[in-house]
Amino acid sequence: MTDHYAVFGNPIAHSKSPLIHASFARQTGQDMDYTALLAPLDGFAECVTAFRAGGGAGANVTVPFKEQAYAIAARRTPRAEAAGAVNTLHFRGAEVLGDNTDGAGLIADLTRNLGVDLAGRRILLMGAGGAARGVVLPLLACGPAVLFIANRTAGRAVDLAARFRDDGPVRGGGYEALTDMTYDIVINATAASLAGELPALPDGIFAAGALAYDMMYGRDTPFLQLARQAGARTADGLGMLVEQAAEAFFLWRGVRPDTAPVIAMLRAG
Ligand code: NDP
Repeated sequence: MTDHYAVFGNPIAHSKSPLIHASFARQTGQDMDYTALLAPLDGFAECVTAFRAGGGAGANVTVPFKEQAYAIAARRTPRAEAAGAVNTLHFRGAEVLGDNTDGAGLIADLTRNLGVDLAGRRILLMGAGGAARGVVLPLLACGPAVLFIANRTAGRAVDLAARFRDDGPVRGGGYEALTDMTYDIVINATAASLAGELPALPDGIFAAGALAYDMMYGRDTPFLQLARQAGARTADGLGMLVEQAAEAFFLWRGVRPDTAPVIAMLRAG
């Protein structure tokens, strides 16, 4: 019997998730389908309930519903609890399990696909929204020398860092606080790239051989342009997108797909 999955978002038409999961299913011989569903801004929970009633086995959740998905999950994984947001729902009988695979997706892309060793490195994370929240604990688990969270609204970065102060060397503040150090890995988890804007990074932030990573994908962003001019290596968030999907696929199906051919297919357009 074919199992049904979906991604809920608003907007959702341009989601690559159906293509990614169809590729995973073909590759691993899983009998499943996966569709993109537009949920009304005030009707996410009702849409999920209807999908479950129709036999849905699980779902991904994207902007702007990750916090609502957290609220409807009766049980959550520790990484979803840490993120305060859920991007993957697993319907197991009467139970709704909420997970967050964004952090694992980023770490897999950085370490496996880009070959970056995060241990002992100086990491700058820009942004304190949903995407940033989901990656703080997974980044700290990799043992960086320091993780600085910088945000336009400095207080949000300070608060976010404070939540994780027992988990590793994390600090937070505004961009003006970034004066005393260069960073080996600079991750843009802000929505600035969506608007073609650049966070207020001071000059000289990239260490020699640094990696600049923009979670945004599908376009050359002002952040990546700046990083290239400064001599940094650059990467976009397409690998993270595919890796977080693979992690969700594993949760649902118990099988790990090979992500490399799927990333290559999406890059080829
Ligand atoms: P949120 O709306 O939750 O957070 C937005 C963040 O961006 C806030 O920290 C905000 O700062 C900051 N910001 C917005 N505009 C600017 C600006 N012009 N200059 C500086 N900072 C700015 O968004 P998300 O965290 O959900 O998403 C962030 C990005 O990550 C998006 O581009 C999204 O597409 C991407 N993403 C990619 C994924 C992937 O798999 N590749 C997965 C998840 C997200 P302030 O607090 O001051 O408002």
